[in-house]
Amino acid sequence: MKKKTNYIGAHVSSSGGLEKAVFRAFQIKATTFSFFTKNQLRWSSSPLQQKNIDNFKKSCVKYNFFPEKILPHSSYLINLGHPDNELLKKSRIAFIDEMTRCNQLGLFFLNFHPGSHLNKISTTFCLSRIAESINIALEKTKNVTAVIENTAGQGTNVGYRFEHLSEIINQVHDKSRIGVCIDTCHLFASGYDLRTKKDYESTFNQFFNIIGLQYLKGFHLNDSKKTLNSRVDRHESLGVGKIGTSIFSYIMKNQDFNNIPMILETVNPKIWEKEISWLRSLNQKSI
Ligand SMILES: [Zn+2]
Ligand SMILES: [Zn+2]
Repeated sequence: MKKKTNYIGAHVSSSGGLEKAVFRAFQIKATTFSFFTKNQLRWSSSPLQQKNIDNFKKSCVKYNFFPEKILPHSSYLINLGHPDNELLKKSRIAFIDEMTRCNQLGLFFLNFHPGSHLNKISTTFCLSRIAESINIALEKTKNVTAVIENTAGQGTNVGYRFEHLSEIINQVHDKSRIGVCIDTCHLFASGYDLRTKKDYESTFNQFFNIIGLQYLKGFHLNDSKKTLNSRVDRHESLGVGKIGTSIFSYIMKNQDFNNIPMILETVNPKIWEKEISWLRSLNQKSI
């Protein structure tokens, strides 16, 4: 029997009910997935009903998804480093609500984009506000780890340098509930080269030194439509963009990344099943 190692999936739609997201992941032969636990374009959603929770959990069992391998994504509206106090408060309330929803669903992670300084406050102050927001959320919730995603550094987004992420982690009190998700498109767009063996080894060595493997809780596997250091966030199907294919082979073969969920956010959902099977073929030990 093959050893279960890599968990591969995609960010699937939750439309029609959260249990539909589980089924969509099953249909593309995924072994993990990402999804929104509420409408990501609205500030508030009605609380989860027991029926929603039960249906979601039942679907996960039926289609063989492990809760500790699922990586839900928070709303794009949330800015945990917002310079305006009122809007910061609104973001914190929405984030706590999302952490609570994940816990109600029996999940252990919430992936989110760190935030933006909007040219009103310094990057350093913005990072501290984000860490403070995380501290508040961790105090008010249980079980769920907050997973910060590296950004492309588009506009005034922070989180595009490993140093930004490690600064946030340093200021978070409960280190057992903070983690990082690495998005390969964002990494490349923010200036970390991934095209040759030398490039990605250097990039990941920086990651190991500045952040540390113990904080790595997920990958978003995307190619990039834009060039190195473009600071523009445009995903592309694997191998079709500017990064090429060898980085994905490196990630799939690296034993250090075993058991870390790998999520596609590539632009063509019709080929997700093919992309998943290609990634799996790069590591015969995958499930
Ligand atoms: Zn991503
Ligand atoms: Zn992106």
